[in-house]
Amino acid sequence: MNQITHVYPETVSDVIKYLENPHAKLLAGGTAMTLLANKEVNTFVDLQKTNLSYIKEEDDRFLIGGTTSAYDIFRNENLPKSFRTAADKIADLSLLHAITLGGNFAILYKWVDLPPILWALNSSITIRGKEERTMNLDEFFPYSREKSIANRNELITEIQLPKPPTNSYSEYQTLTLIENEKGQLNLASYFEWNENKEITIARLVASAAFKGPKRLECEQFIIGKRIDDELINKCKETINAEDLVKFYKSSKEYRAEILRVYIKRTMNNCLSKM
Ligand SMILES: Cc1cc2nc3c(=O)[nH]c(=O)nc-3n(C[C@H](O)[C@H](O)[C@H](O)COP(=O)(O)OP(=O)(O)OC[C@H]3O[C@@H](n4cnc5c(N)ncnc54)[C@H](O)[C@@H]3O)c2cc1C
Repeated sequence: MNQITHVYPETVSDVIKYLENPHAKLLAGGTAMTLLANKEVNTFVDLQKTNLSYIKEEDDRFLIGGTTSAYDIFRNENLPKSFRTAADKIADLSLLHAITLGGNFAILYKWVDLPPILWALNSSITIRGKEERTMNLDEFFPYSREKSIANRNELITEIQLPKPPTNSYSEYQTLTLIENEKGQLNLASYFEWNENKEITIARLVASAAFKGPKRLECEQFIIGKRIDDELINKCKETINAEDLVKFYKSSKEYRAEILRVYIKRTMNNCLSKM
């Protein structure tokens, strides 16, 4: 076995210096390390002393540090309920304390719960590599699909989450057969409407059943419309089982049907909130 050095930088700049070593790997909650540590890793850059664990509230947004745990997200009653629901769903209590926001984004495993809901909520992410940049998650997902943040050896420092206005509704639904199981299908949804109850913003992000989080095509039919049965049916018709990935626990057809049910449910829930 190769010998691994642990280092504990206290500033982001020091983390970045350590990452100049191509054999260094960031260590946050450590819950994916058995999957990731390989013979080439010679240094773990432990993030626990970097002061990146925080949830700050500004007038119009929340700032959430990269090493904030899923447990702290779940417990913060000021955060949107849909986001807290996604954090709560992730795993059992001991894992919730360990799993971090940055770790959940750094490798977009099919089952991750925080990225889809934060995408639906129109969040942005700040990443430090050679330079610092902040991008909306619309831009982040193609960037990360090309090569994951973990493989780029960059540091996720913060997520910016806009505060949803009162004329909005968001929800996180997940299909599991037993509690704390990795989701077989997730739907994160967000809607805003105007005084005529016409939808002005719709973001529906499905995950787990696809290669990665995916915004659904039916969003385009919803904008400018009032929610009614005809619109709901039109949205449901856009779901095609063939677009889903195979999974040994349930068929594509079954998960596609559940996705149609989730779409109908969230649109009806939104309507009842107006
Ligand atoms: C049994 C089990 C069940 C799970 N179920 C779910 C589930 O249902 N839903 C879900 O969402 N998650 C689930 N997870 C967690 C998920 O699979 C990952 O293990 C977790 O997101 C990794 O986060 P971490 O903080 O532990 O990161 P680590 O394991 O410390 O690191 C993971 C990778 O991310 C990199 N990294 C960590 N932090 C940062 C950062 N700030 N910036 C850049 N790169 C970083 C590391 O270098 C490493 O490559 C589960 C985990 C386990 C063990």
